[in-house]
Amino acid sequence: MSTAATVAQAMSTDAMEFVASFDRALFADACVNPARINEWARLNEAYFGACAAPRQQERCVRLAREGGFSVDQLLAVERRLAKLPKAQRTMRARMELLEKLVAAAPRSYDAFSQLVTEFVPVEEKECAGDLRFSRPNGRFGGMHASGPRRDFADLEAKLRSMTNPELPEGPQMYEALFTLLRGEGGGVPTAAPRPVVAVPLPDGVRIESLEGDDVELGLSDGTTMTGAEYLATGLGLAGGADVELALVHPTVGPVKSYRLSRFANDEQRLLASLRNLVCAWPGCKRAADFSQVHHVRAWSRGGETNIDNLVMLCPFHNAVNDDDAQRRKWGRIELVDGRAMWISPYGRRDVNTFHPYGVMERLFPDPPPAGPD
Ligand SMILES: [Zn+2]
Repeated sequence: MSTAATVAQAMSTDAMEFVASFDRALFADACVNPARINEWARLNEAYFGACAAPRQQERCVRLAREGGFSVDQLLAVERRLAKLPKAQRTMRARMELLEKLVAAAPRSYDAFSQLVTEFVPVEEKECAGDLRFSRPNGRFGGMHASGPRRDFADLEAKLRSMTNPELPEGPQMYEALFTLLRGEGGGVPTAAPRPVVAVPLPDGVRIESLEGDDVELGLSDGTTMTGAEYLATGLGLAGGADVELALVHPTVGPVKSYRLSRFANDEQRLLASLRNLVCAWPGCKRAADFSQVHHVRAWSRGGETNIDNLVMLCPFHNAVNDDDAQRRKWGRIELVDGRAMWISPYGRRDVNTFHPYGVMERLFPDPPPAGPD
């Protein structure tokens, strides 16, 4: 078989045939990147090499076929298993992981690799800081720093605060970083993350109005109440505790927040961020703090700035979203039962599961059955 044909096979559901008939020399001849050849060779070794548990290995092959997994998916499995301590890196571990993946039948590569991470917990290493300078290349130098996530969140927030969002961000953040390092710009403050207590509304409560100073709730006994009154019934708002409360409706999502401090600022931004703590686009990792408020029904098409029309999207996804559903280029974000949902140009639905602490998943893990509309 020609190299091109075998590579095509690697990308198809015939991945196991590719792995079985893998021939290192063929790819070396075709000048394929040796790192990739080595990965494929390890895959061949895992599924068809000498093994102390041949029956489990056979089952792995069957499972990989049954799941119709691509070579890239199988590689994701191997990369994750490689993170386990040696004693746990067994054929059984591979088999059990494949069993779960076949059962879960994820619909995209991103969903698949996320499940792989979830199904194989790896003990996180002690997160010490590390910084390296890379070898200069011509006139360019570089460095790579890693360390506790919180530190980088603080740095990112500071650098972004020094940039103009209308201009490309990379070069500006670089300038800002060196401004700070050279002693101007006032240092990087430690952020104080704001805890928000999310209060779920019971299923029967209707939202009568989202406008005005408070949200109007329709109760099942035929009466109405404002959000503040509702909270006061059970939560002692008058107590003056130093927290922020947000009311969350099972199908509308976050509807109103009550800040018990002096600073009342962008409430809608906060509520939209509660819905998705990162950009709502599947696979995107940009934090809601660094994202923009997106109108699901575009402002230019009569969409209102109400929380039931707002979702956080990073600047890139906000720009490419098909505001006109007829455009069918990148797909678009819609709100379904208060949850942000990406609709592909062909109508497939997907959600961003990168950050699992969105308020709807926490409070209402089972979406309500589809209503009449
Ligand atoms: Zn995004």
